Amino acid sequence: MPELPEVETVRMQLRHKIVGKTIDSVEVFHAKSVNHDETIEDTLRGKIIADIDRVGKLMIFSFADESDVFLLAHLKMTGQFFYVDTHGDAVGGGHSMSESSDRDFPHKHSRVAFHFTDHTSLYFNDMRLFGYTKLATGAEVALARSKFGPEPITPDFDCDWFWAKLKKRKTPIKAALLDQSFVAGLGNIYVDEALWRSKIRPTRQADKVTKSEATALCKAAGDVMNESIKVGGTTFQHFVDTGGQNGNFTDYLKVFGQQGKACSRCGETIKKIRCAGRGTHYCPGCQK
Ligand SMILES: [Zn+2]
Repeated sequence: MPELPEVETVRMQLRHKIVGKTIDSVEVFHAKSVNHDETIEDTLRGKIIADIDRVGKLMIFSFADESDVFLLAHLKMTGQFFYVDTHGDAVGGGHSMSESSDRDFPHKHSRVAFHFTDHTSLYFNDMRLFGYTKLATGAEVALARSKFGPEPITPDFDCDWFWAKLKKRKTPIKAALLDQSFVAGLGNIYVDEALWRSKIRPTRQADKVTKSEATALCKAAGDVMNESIKVGGTTFQHFVDTGGQNGNFTDYLKVFGQQGKACSRCGETIKKIRCAGRGTHYCPGCQK
């Protein structure tokens, strides 16, 4: 499943590719992927992409001179975006590309195509159909934004505020960090990694985290996300060159998926347990 760093990578790269382009037509190959909205093509034809924003893993496309029409896109489990230029070269990102080796677009997993007036196109592929690209009003966008807390990767993320909020939570710290309405953007992998870096055990009750630990956790959460976004940059490459290789953060993981291996910091064996309903990895030696 694409985690936030992959979504952020896709967003940043797509911005370079399609901002300023005018939509010429929209092809819908599967109605579910546009929320069964038959007006999508008529609504978007002629619109100029102004920007692509993001909140959590939700991408928000806005349009020039348009304050009440947006396109929301969520990759969910298997979504991908591919940009195809006038030579037919495709670059894309999102879900691991190894499962869709077909390089011609549209292919059987292509659900929607946005064609631009300069004869380039943006394809939304989604094997399992959980993702979507759908129209939204300004009010709907505001509502979607309101469901997400601040992100640790934003430079002005407030660690004092973060610690004060933790003080009021009696859930395991892991559960608190996964709550997107509290802090947005940290998925299961990144929570485990951030807790390992800050030496906090995932099962520790949130209100028992000290101020210095909370500060270390803030920094670790931001760092782990930013480092992953850097690596995630490799997901968005020339599809034909990489042969379907997807960039990922796997080589950098210290604790996630490392159960049974020695901790690189203290040598203790990494454990896997269940916490907050999720597979959870930690080192019993150095995470307190
Ligand atoms: Zn350790």
